[in-house]
Amino acid sequence: MQVLARLKPSRSFVPRPSRSIIVVSVLAAACSSEPKPQPASPLPSVSGHVALGRLPDVDTDAVLQHTRVLSSNEYEGRAPGTKREDLTVNYLQDQFIKVGLKPGNADGTYVQKVPLVGITPTPAPLVFTKDSQQTTLKWKDDVVAWTKHVAPSAEIKDSELVFVGYGVVAPEFEWDDYKGIDVTGKTLVMLINDPAVPDPVNAEQLDPKVFGGKAMTYYGRWTYKYEMGKQKGAAGVLIVHETEPAGYGFNVVQGKTGEQFDLVTPDKNMTRPSIEGWITLDSAKALFQSAGQDFDELKKQAATREFRPVPLGVTASMTIKNSLRTINSRNVLAKFEGSDPQLKSEYVVYTAHWDHFGKNADGIFHGAEDDALGCAALIEVARAFTKLAPPATPPKRSILFLAVTGEEQGLLGSEYYSVTPVHPLAKTLANINMDSWNVHGRTKDLTLVGFGASELDDYAAEAAAEQGRVVHADAEPEKGFYYRSDHFNFAKQGVPALDPEAGVDYIGQPADYAKKTREEWNTVRYHTPKDVVLPSWNMDGLREDLKVFFAVGYRVAQAEKFPAWKPGSEFRAKREAMLKQ
Ligand SMILES: [Zn+2]
Repeated sequence: MQVLARLKPSRSFVPRPSRSIIVVSVLAAACSSEPKPQPASPLPSVSGHVALGRLPDVDTDAVLQHTRVLSSNEYEGRAPGTKREDLTVNYLQDQFIKVGLKPGNADGTYVQKVPLVGITPTPAPLVFTKDSQQTTLKWKDDVVAWTKHVAPSAEIKDSELVFVGYGVVAPEFEWDDYKGIDVTGKTLVMLINDPAVPDPVNAEQLDPKVFGGKAMTYYGRWTYKYEMGKQKGAAGVLIVHETEPAGYGFNVVQGKTGEQFDLVTPDKNMTRPSIEGWITLDSAKALFQSAGQDFDELKKQAATREFRPVPLGVTASMTIKNSLRTINSRNVLAKFEGSDPQLKSEYVVYTAHWDHFGKNADGIFHGAEDDALGCAALIEVARAFTKLAPPATPPKRSILFLAVTGEEQGLLGSEYYSVTPVHPLAKTLANINMDSWNVHGRTKDLTLVGFGASELDDYAAEAAAEQGRVVHADAEPEKGFYYRSDHFNFAKQGVPALDPEAGVDYIGQPADYAKKTREEWNTVRYHTPKDVVLPSWNMDGLREDLKVFFAVGYRVAQAEKFPAWKPGSEFRAKREAMLKQ
């Protein structure tokens, strides 16, 4: 799982279980503002539309049973690259076969091999030089950095520092922080989050017309910043950490000082910046001062289209030594083949991650909710497809069930699939994220993270309405949760992706029930050995939720046309270009 404060378990950023529980107050805030239901827009027409009540239920007793198995002691927390990976992969494959699914890989197997590399950096200082004056930033205290180069060491040496504002190029907002300046071989200093453009009507607020207003877009994510560094040929990228726009403290960043896993790309990641890292706000302010610049003033300028990169007249040097190990992990994939001879080559993809943290001195990280439960739901939603009966007909298009590896290490298995897809993304209609579910009873509502991004939300709204329920956005769009789970890798490549989450309005419970269950989750269980199946689990809400997302997948597979991103989505242009080819 990325960053903690999450309404649901699975996001990756904090790679170490011991760092799990940091931001609790945010959670409280998540539930205090009651999200408003929003009207759905008209759906792409679905041929032979079948009412929700005529579709089979998802068997939640079976979901519970799979969850018990996958989170049992025997599975020891399902760490990639261990014998427990074999156990987990075999279990999922066996279950998919029992359900009657065909191999999901075109090579006739139920797996996709995912090569991973673990890189552990040795602590090193970062040295800034202005004229002959040197300033040394202390590892972990002032700077957290790493290299993604699959190599014994990486360095920047006397690399010129250039402040590039938010480091963003966003054509749809006519925004370019680089203005054509060549930054090859330089080290870029960037701000975190989206450009904080004030609303011309009310300067106290962010302009809702650019970068999603209060909501974070992908341009605000730290991963985007490093990707831009690669695109621009930079030697290094240093993000200035600020707690509020980042959404987490520097202590969370400090969690990235240990081993980090990554995909092994053909170029061994050598085209990425040599050094990627974060510096503290204090270190940044001191740096700008030594360069004769005012950080706050430049930050203000960076929130305008007129901003131009500012060479700081300071150089940076850092050498990071690595220890490396490689792991051959696997995604598990199985398909329910479509009934239409032409359309069966097109896919709706359900995903959940099978991996978790394994075990350490604290015990076994069972990962029951995170994410044995998601895998269990994947199996039983697959089974529901086999139970479709008149008036429902089998889906015309194929349904792919994909259990990915390496989510806890940074959404790696899903990244691998989306970059080297088994079935073309141009023929992939949608991704539905199955990570983690509600185990606390029925709700009157459902949360859709990133609500309004694509027409998939309309499908979900329609299905939920058939249960007399409403859907709404997550309470904290500014935290960018949409960009922190596996479905995002599909979105990033252009495929519309849905990220469902539990509702907050529990039937027959006090108003603060959702808040309390979440707090308990975040303070006690999330990424700890206490994430186990509890006697208190109530699957009644899950049964309804899964039916909604089963119906969404089924109806998308039957639809006349592909679901689209809504206008204003940062992924829309990519999808349109892909479908034109
Ligand atoms: Zn997790």
